[in-house]
This record gives sequence, structure tokens and C-alpha cells, in this order.
Amino acid sequence: VLIDRIAGARVAGATGLCALDLRDGRVAEVALEGEREAGHEGEHEGERRPSPAEVTLEAAGRVVLPAFVDAHVHLDKAFLLADAEAAGPLRPTLDAAIASVGALRASLAPARVRAIAERAITRLVRHGVTAARVHVEIDPAVGLDLVHLHKALADTAARRLALQLVAFPQRGLELPGMIDLFGAALGLGLDVVGGCPYVDADPRRHLDLVFAMAERHGAPVDLHLDFSDDPGRSLLGLVAERTRAHGMQGRVAIGHVTTLAAMPPDAQAEALDLLAACGIALIALPATDLYLTGHGEPGARSLAPWERARQRGVRVAIANNNLGNPFAPFGNGNILQAAWLAGITRHACGPESRAALLDAVTQAPAAILGLPEHGPRVDAAAHLVIVDTEEPEDVILEAPTVLTTLRAGAVVHETHPPRIAH
Ligand SMILES: [Zn+2]
Repeated sequence: VLIDRIAGARVAGATGLCALDLRDGRVAEVALEGEREAGHEGEHEGERRPSPAEVTLEAAGRVVLPAFVDAHVHLDKAFLLADAEAAGPLRPTLDAAIASVGALRASLAPARVRAIAERAITRLVRHGVTAARVHVEIDPAVGLDLVHLHKALADTAARRLALQLVAFPQRGLELPGMIDLFGAALGLGLDVVGGCPYVDADPRRHLDLVFAMAERHGAPVDLHLDFSDDPGRSLLGLVAERTRAHGMQGRVAIGHVTTLAAMPPDAQAEALDLLAACGIALIALPATDLYLTGHGEPGARSLAPWERARQRGVRVAIANNNLGNPFAPFGNGNILQAAWLAGITRHACGPESRAALLDAVTQAPAAILGLPEHGPRVDAAAHLVIVDTEEPEDVILEAPTVLTTLRAGAVVHETHPPRIAH
């Protein structure tokens, strides 16, 4: 349903309820309801008379936010927890998760993979996500099947969720035939060159190949990086070198980077300054990072220090990564809850941190994906969510339910509360 107007909207920064006029997929006007009504002459009791064809969505005092953008998510291995558990008890480590899903990969029927990916898309939209950067596994066990699947999904999901596709070598580039396969995947028009240097014996060569392919295809780079409790294994310096050498400042993103959490303060500050200087964006993935790493004794909080990164000028996003699988059994697609969790984990709660957390699931990931501005602002794209709270300041603390998701002014998800039947 295409919406012409959202009434009774609580928008951050406004002193009262607002009305948002939507036109051609954009926000055409945002006005305080009282002022706007006063401005219309000849109308009774401040009532604005809608044209008969106008469709109004009544927000009833709820908060309207920019829709969420997930800068890092996997659709092709979502909801495989039961399959993995059937093969034996799960261990909460990265190696065990990779092995577990790797063992399932070859035996998953294409129809099953399509079904889990579609379920993941529906789940994301339900939680207010209208754009996502999706890592597509390129693996000799399945050839280019997952590339074709994702390209089809990107078409069918486009109305609800814009997909940006990353070629992702989950089991590395050293498997036989992998480099040709990876090049072929990029040749099919994937948007981003992914990488996973920590799974290869020679991570340096892995990075060289990724940056060379990015240059050849004119594509940005998005790496799974430094997913460890051991700062000695950090590859940040190598990534920074290559970012500069290829002139890719502002076009490189790195996900996980839990080594930052384990670094002594001086080394951490130096690493964050390096990221800022090279324009490398940082994507924290709390549902996975906190589950698979942080095995130190006494326990460590293995989440990249996103608040310090931001203070030092790094662009920071928080994203889902995985849904209901060995990489994130608690991953549920609720990106607002991921931000909530990132706040708790880093003890970061003040007004500045709350604003940063909201930015990390809306505008910052949109910038990483290279998307134009969206949200409840004049001339921005009308990708919006209505959440079940009245206080803009409390959104990140409450992680309220998303009641309605709009993309380009159209409702693409709405909750249906249980009703008493008569
Ligand atoms: Zn990932």
C-alpha cells in the first residue's frame, strides 16, 4: 500500500506530533500538526481535509525513524541451527561454526537454501530493515549456485529490501579452483569484493588478490577481519597499506575486528586512528562476536570498541551478520536489539552513545552501502519505520517492536496484533 501521509508521528527533534507527506517515494513535507493545520485556511477545528484518494497512516504518537540498514548479513546459511545440532553438539568457536556449516553446504538442496534466504529476508523486513549488504558464499562445493540464487532474490525482494551483494570466500581463496570461481562470480555482476583472510594459510596473498579484484571490477571491498581474541593475529596494518596503495580510502569496510577489544589501550587507539586515517569503516556484529569469541579467563567482552572508534573519526555500523545458525544461535534479525546489545557490552549509555547507536543501524550503514539519504526529513527517501514507543530518546534503550516498515513510501510490513473474535 502506497502511503500519502503519516499522521501523529513523533520525530526526533520536533516539539510535538508531526505529519509527514510522502510523494514519489520521498518525504515531501514534515510539519508540526498544529502549525500545519493552522496554515490551512477555511478548515474547521484545525482539521485538514484529505482528498478522497489520499491514504493516511496513523502513527498515534509513536516514533518514526529512518528504516534500518544492515551493513553485513548472510542469507544463505540462516536458520540452520537445527541441522547443525543434529550433527552433534555445537562448540561456540569460529572454527567449529565454519566447519559445521561447511559440512552441511554440499547437501543442502537449492530449494531449501532459497527457502531459508527468503525467510531471512522476511525476518529482516519485519525488524525494519529495507536495505542490506549480503555476503554470498562462493564455494567450490556449490559453484556459482548461490550467486544465481541471490541475483534472483535481489530482483524479487527489491520492493521490500534492496540487496547489495558481496562475493564472499568463506573457506578462503586457497581451495583448488577458487580464484577462477571467485573471478567468475564477480564477472556476474556482484557489487562488492569480499574477503576472509584469516582462513587462508597466507592472508597477505588473500588480501592482495581481493584488492586486485576490487581494482579490476571498480568495486568496494568488505572484509571479514581479525575475528580473534589475539591482537597478535591482527591484519589491520596490511589492510590499511593496501587501502592506501589502491587509493580505496572510503571504500573499504571491515567486519568483526574483535582483536581491537583485546588490544592494550595504546595499541587500540593507534589502530583506530589508522582506520580513521584510511577511511576504513568498522562493522560490529554483536550477536556473533560475543558468542564466538571472548573466551578469555576471566571473561572478556569481545566486541570492537565502536564508541571509541567513532570518537576517533571512524564510520561505525552495527549489523546482524547471522540468523539462527552456528555463527549466531541468538541471531534473530532484530538489528535494533543488536544496537541495544552493543550499548550494554561497551558500557556506553549516554545521549551521545544512544545517538551513535541509532546512527550505526541507519545512516552510517547507508553511507557504507553508498545509498542516498533516507528518513523522516524533507527530500529524503521515504524508507521509514514506526516503532512501538513514544519517546525518540528511549528507542535504543527499549529496542521497541517495529510496527510498520515502509520502503519508498509503501508499507512492506505491518504487525497484526491478536484480536478478540466475536
Ligand atoms: Zn559475516
